[in-house]
Amino acid sequence: IVAFMLSGAYGGVAGALYAGMIHYVSPDTYSLAIMFLLLAMVIAGGRDSIYGAALGAVVLIFVRQQFESFQRYQQIAYGALIVAMVLFAPSGLAGLATSLWRRLFSRPPAVLDEDEVEGLGVDDERPVLRELDEARAERRPVLEIRDVTKRFKGLVALRGVSFDVAAGSIHGIVGPNGSGKTTLFNIVTGVYGASSGSVRMAGRRVSGRRAYRVARQGVGRTFQTVRLFRSLTVRENVMVALDDSRPHSIWRYLLAPWLVLLRERELRRLADRHLRRYQLASVADFLGTNLPYGQQRLVEIARAMATEPKLLLLDEPAAGLNSTEQRDLGELIRRIRADGTTVLLIEHNMALVMSVCERVTVLSSGAVLAEGAPEEIARDRRVIEAYLGTALLPDVEESLA
Ligand code: ADP
Ligand code: MG
Repeated sequence: IVAFMLSGAYGGVAGALYAGMIHYVSPDTYSLAIMFLLLAMVIAGGRDSIYGAALGAVVLIFVRQQFESFQRYQQIAYGALIVAMVLFAPSGLAGLATSLWRRLFSRPPAVLDEDEVEGLGVDDERPVLRELDEARAERRPVLEIRDVTKRFKGLVALRGVSFDVAAGSIHGIVGPNGSGKTTLFNIVTGVYGASSGSVRMAGRRVSGRRAYRVARQGVGRTFQTVRLFRSLTVRENVMVALDDSRPHSIWRYLLAPWLVLLRERELRRLADRHLRRYQLASVADFLGTNLPYGQQRLVEIARAMATEPKLLLLDEPAAGLNSTEQRDLGELIRRIRADGTTVLLIEHNMALVMSVCERVTVLSSGAVLAEGAPEEIARDRRVIEAYLGTALLPDVEESLA
């Protein structure tokens, strides 16, 4: 609505100036043909880019002048142009120019950029935040989940789930598919409201708050299926997370566009610094969705960490990664924790869970089945049963013994 209002304001100013120029106001000045022309400008120039609209305007004004003496065929020419653009170049002239530029001047995505490995890895010298140490010493939980129940019509996805996540820990959640793990994340992050129960983060209630407020309170997350913004580059994906402008600051677009550009430049700088930490600097200009799967996962984590959350929720981050990538992911999760962020990790890959988690909660059919250190969990009879059924239980127990 705000975008609509702002473009209306620009249009209004333009209309007032135009009326002043021709000393005459009449509805047929703005005929259907003009609307088609404007639409054609945007489509031919490129819907996704500001420069595109300007480019389209220049090109079509030129075309219009060329066709001045063939008024009758003008509409056909615009129509043909729009159809051709939609079919062959949906992102318009600007999109063509961008992809040509990328093809000519970009390096292919490097899976690992050796130059950027410096300064990475767990830094033991770095003092972990004092606040975190205190919380850990007092065993204060950063997240308290109390008696959370979630019903979807007839289906009970979560029933009376309660557990704590200790500050500064890496806490695992495991459980068979459909046991309610993702639903729990959605409730913690404000995507869904709980049917009953409460979630507190650092002592403050988060359940029932809107997702963006929960994010501002210091919760970051990734998604089970990667959800990068299509048609945005890796850098822009991170910039979206960094941009915490309030809705009322939107007036800047109208009154002081240069402030918007300055802010954007600042965000670019921050995003680049951030991407270097995750070895993604070399792919900053690539469309996120064009990267190999493992790197898309990494971009999602980088985006979630851009807000410097107190608590990071990772939903099956190792799914679809090869074994090297999985090991790197384990390192990365430990580094994130060492930098002061508590991690809550949903994962099926038990090797990863065993190697990074200090504590594990097992969900089964929407309820907490067991909780404890990873070694205890892996041997727990009920847990093995929930995963494999009773038939295989004797074999597994034999192999563990
Ligand atoms: P998990 O992540 O542990 O595999 P989910 O939390 O995704 O499990 O799902 C738990 C149960 O809740 C499943 O039976 C699923 O079909 C159901 N469910 C999840 N989201 C919805 C929804 N939006 N509407 C209806 N049912 C849902
Ligand atoms: Mg899930």
